Amino acid sequence: MMNKDEIVNYLNKIISNPVCELNYSKDYELLISVMLSAQSTDKRVNKVTEELYNKYSNIYLLNEASVKEIETIIKPIGTYKRKSFYIKEIVANLIKDWDGRVPRDRNYLEQLPGIGRKSTNVVLAELYNLPTIAVDTHVTRISKRLGLANENDSVRKIEEKLMKIFPQKDWNKINHQLILFGRYYCKARNPDCENCLLKKDCIRTKKETVKN
Ligand code: SF4
Repeated sequence: MMNKDEIVNYLNKIISNPVCELNYSKDYELLISVMLSAQSTDKRVNKVTEELYNKYSNIYLLNEASVKEIETIIKPIGTYKRKSFYIKEIVANLIKDWDGRVPRDRNYLEQLPGIGRKSTNVVLAELYNLPTIAVDTHVTRISKRLGLANENDSVRKIEEKLMKIFPQKDWNKINHQLILFGRYYCKARNPDCENCLLKKDCIRTKKETVKN
């Protein structure tokens, strides 16, 4: 396994100030945007939510919108029918149970439609600064490439391993950095290995070398 300090130092160098790339101004907007980002990109989500959050500027107005109206706006992100239904359900639940606020309550958030453990981790970290590691497709891929996790590890197993490897105080930052590293550097296809300082110990590059 690669030395964790090397990874931390490198990520601090290339992604020194990682921030959430989803645009939101209210807690429930973040929750919805995180849900919408499944199988989509933050860029595409931001495009549709700009219109959605402008048109329905608070949770009560959004609650009044019909599924059809929401579908029309979020159509470009795909799986929009299911996601429109989720929006309606999430909003109605938050109003009913928490006066429209997003609670600091893992169990509650995880059982909302379209919100699983990963999305809950993102939201708790972003809204409440709770230490979490959200394992998305980027974190999964990079953990395996860097030997922080095994090829067959489940998402939950990867989360556990990363929580053991990195100190709790660093979880949120390293989580963001891993996501952005995957999005812009260590991409699924054609990662920028040539310029990557982690390549000497990277499992992927070792495999490529053996192949050639
Ligand atoms: S060497 Fe390539 S595959 Fe390995 S971590 Fe760097 S960018 Fe990713």
